[in-house]
Amino acid sequence: MKLTVRKAAEAIKKGGIVAFPTETVYGLGADAFNQEAVRKTFALKGRPSDNPLIVHISGLHQLDKLVKTKPNYFNKLTKSFWPGPLTFVLEKQPSVPDVVTGGLSTVAVRMPDHPLALDLIEQTGPLTAPSANKSGRPSPTSPEHLIHDYGDKIDYVDGGPCRIGLESTVLDLTGEQPAILREGAITAKMIKKQYGIEVAEAITQSSLDAPKSPGVKYTHYKPDATVRWLSNNDRPSPNTVWLIHSNNITEEGDQIIRFDGDFDRMARQLYDEFRRADLLGISEIAIEPLPSPNHHPLISALENRISKAIHQ
Ligand code: AMP
Ligand code: MG
Repeated sequence: MKLTVRKAAEAIKKGGIVAFPTETVYGLGADAFNQEAVRKTFALKGRPSDNPLIVHISGLHQLDKLVKTKPNYFNKLTKSFWPGPLTFVLEKQPSVPDVVTGGLSTVAVRMPDHPLALDLIEQTGPLTAPSANKSGRPSPTSPEHLIHDYGDKIDYVDGGPCRIGLESTVLDLTGEQPAILREGAITAKMIKKQYGIEVAEAITQSSLDAPKSPGVKYTHYKPDATVRWLSNNDRPSPNTVWLIHSNNITEEGDQIIRFDGDFDRMARQLYDEFRRADLLGISEIAIEPLPSPNHHPLISALENRISKAIHQ
């Protein structure tokens, strides 16, 4: 059911779960200090219990009860990038329940750049808010996606479609050097440019025995349709959605979706296109290989989500 922010806050304070919009994707909000509510979130998503949740805050005043130590450049980073699509991993306070962090000694924290999210969290206090998809599937970027995934059981705050459409960058601040664990709209290059802070680019963590970000082990972002890169021999077919970003491909067809070099729009619509293909019963999605990451800040995040939808 659609709820006002005030009703949503009341429901969450009573231990309920309410989906809400952020600038990245819709999150499934629960009180971060209510273990039972957080446990219910894992069950609702079908999320493995060792894949920790991001805690969302509305102001820096909420940080002290979540994180223990912060590096000296932390304030600079938050000044530039919060509210925004950048999540920091820091040592957690003992009071943060283990169920939130999957038993890790660290906690991931973000201040979302969305007026409804900030208003809600200001009323409830810190909220865990994993992407509101069922585990392994494309994240919801509109209320229609939520209703498709959960039916009318789901309580949600309606913010229309999300502005960015891909999940936040996750940046680990617990090591010697900040390291990107998941690519998003904020890149290592942007952080370096702003402050000269060296940031390690994402490594293929799925190959590690104990990945720093447990989520990387699991299937992600996958629609029913088979996702693959478009090849030179492809010809348009009603049974394959093409996602095309350049003007080099001139074929025409009903299922050819063009982004005309607009990678912001491509990111915003990627999961909607995945979901649309499934709704139409289309069995394949072929995506034009992306240019180098220098081309646009969202290319690394797009490459990461598409590769995962293809390979896992
Ligand atoms: P989602 O909630 O679906 O946006 O996914 C959150 C991502 O943040 C997952 O990839 C998690 O593995 C990662 N994450 C959350 N908490 C931590 C943490 N304490 N340390 C490392 N990664 C984390
Ligand atoms: Mg997710």
